[in-house]
Amino acid sequence: MYKEISTFAAYHNVTLVAVSKTKPVEDIKNIYNQGQRHFGENKVQELLSKQEVLPNDVKWHLIGTLQRNKVKYIAPFVHLIHSCESIDLLDTIIKEGNKIDRKLSILLQFHIASEETKHGFEESEIDTILDYFKASERFVNVCGVMGMASFTDDQSIVKQEFTNLQNIFTRVHESKVFDPSIFKEISMGMSGDYKLAVDCGSTMIRVGSAIFGGR
Ligand SMILES: *Cc1c(COP(=O)(O)O)cnc(C)c1O
Repeated sequence: MYKEISTFAAYHNVTLVAVSKTKPVEDIKNIYNQGQRHFGENKVQELLSKQEVLPNDVKWHLIGTLQRNKVKYIAPFVHLIHSCESIDLLDTIIKEGNKIDRKLSILLQFHIASEETKHGFEESEIDTILDYFKASERFVNVCGVMGMASFTDDQSIVKQEFTNLQNIFTRVHESKVFDPSIFKEISMGMSGDYKLAVDCGSTMIRVGSAIFGGR
């Protein structure tokens, strides 16, 4: 059961990433044929097998936990890595990009949910991140921040977490460590909370089940 992509026409000023994880290639083609080009996957292996058979103009987003030894497989084509959550992973992304002379684009994932299980940098690590980039020129495009809110029906909690990510974005932006023409994305909002996320300043929503149906 697909939702027509035109349902999201009201959100033309934000980038809609259609999260196709676990869904077959046929479903992705259906959405692609409606004009959608940004697709997100959370597993490298699944992303690779889909990328192989789908058109070259698909912009692939990696939105899930990324193991360092798998960066090399997606480096040649990935559009944006949302889940950069450690300096070690940053090092690897830069190294693999260097090897093939392709400057990779990433978002800094921050842990904004109250749950312990979600990944990401802590807000307290911002200075460490900025120092890392101040220390030398790094071969990577830092395009913004990403975060996941808590799974809760309490909209006030979700709103507070999204606002927190917006504040983190502003803080990093104002440090002027990153080129503002590149550092401009706030990736937040999923099927259950993308409207609220956009109200809180999201520029990029990652929507799976509301497009492709339940998993
Ligand atoms: C699965 C997933 C989504 C999409 O979730 P839905 O609730 O199906 O919209 C968004 N972001 C991340 C990181 C995900 O893993």
